[in-house]
Amino acid sequence: MTFSLDQGRQLQDRFGRSKHKLRISITDRCNMRCHYCMPEDPAWLPRSQILSFEELLRLAGLFVRELGIRSIRITGGEPLLRKGAVDFIAALQALRAEGLERVSLTSNATLLERHAAGLKAAGLDDINISLDAMNPTLFERMTKSPLEPVLRGILAAREAGLAIKLNAVVIRDENEQEILPLVAWAREHGLPLRFIEFMPLDGKGGWRPERVVPEAEIIARLQQRYAVAALPRTREPARYYLLDGDYRIGVISTVSNPFCASCDRVRLTATGKIFPCLFSPRGVDLKHALRAGASDAELIARIRAAVWHKGKGFVDVAGYVQRDATMHTLGG
Ligand code: SAM
Ligand code: SF4
Repeated sequence: MTFSLDQGRQLQDRFGRSKHKLRISITDRCNMRCHYCMPEDPAWLPRSQILSFEELLRLAGLFVRELGIRSIRITGGEPLLRKGAVDFIAALQALRAEGLERVSLTSNATLLERHAAGLKAAGLDDINISLDAMNPTLFERMTKSPLEPVLRGILAAREAGLAIKLNAVVIRDENEQEILPLVAWAREHGLPLRFIEFMPLDGKGGWRPERVVPEAEIIARLQQRYAVAALPRTREPARYYLLDGDYRIGVISTVSNPFCASCDRVRLTATGKIFPCLFSPRGVDLKHALRAGASDAELIARIRAAVWHKGKGFVDVAGYVQRDATMHTLGG
């Protein structure tokens, strides 16, 4: 079945950007403590503040049916820490009949050995996995968690037949020397890899412009080992390069080369706030309206208004942003 949405039903912001992708953070909790993402001692949100799966399904249905969302990515915190996450992904499949085309997950892979087969059976299309270093000591320093279970989780997901992309945040004076080892490991295992510039969204406010390793420098490092050819730009946030003619890597350069002008995403936090942009200083609450018995039409109007007022993006910010959410509550 094909779906065509009339112009009027599309979710659009005031700069004419249409939204087709929704990220739903289903928990702020995490079993890692990546310093670039969350504070060392995070205060977890009370469970009463977190939307139930029924509430999330109702909102997801409105986004797909009424607002033209075609892809949903489940994220967190670590989404697989939330009991029922796999069943939630299975329940989302019903929205395929209404126009949903893709259901994806972003995970730190620690629980994938246990859940990979179930996720595949639940209809998950693909999974993005964070992997910032191949050196176990450095990995543990960055994430406060051991590397080995992560590697086992990645291989379990591959074994289960899930499409995988690896994502590595690169931070100056921390893991630039891991760029080549990460490529070597990912290439050897036939897994696509993307590098992500460090964004000013960490829990501690430790971001500094000089800690960003820009795309050009990442490419220069790769050129020490490989013949690197830039591939034509697509609508994806990453720019892709071919190494030695046979292995593709991506770079997401939000800081040095923002892709905000073509951003087609919108985010929903576990507490039911719409963040139209990662760099929005505050979210627009849906939870209170939802729990006060708002009609579908009222919720849709709130979502439309939140997205309409989306800012230009990183280009408007260009520095550390004080927000009422950190990355682990926003989902990346
Ligand atoms: N726990 C899951 C994971 O680590 O993949 C999902 C949530 S995590 C917040 C989603 C993504 O955000 C990860 O790829 C992570 O590397 C990225 N991220 C977190 N903080 C970041 C920052 N300050 N700059 C760039 N990327 C960041
Ligand atoms: Fe947890 Fe992912 Fe944030 Fe690391 S990046 S602390 S794994 S939510």
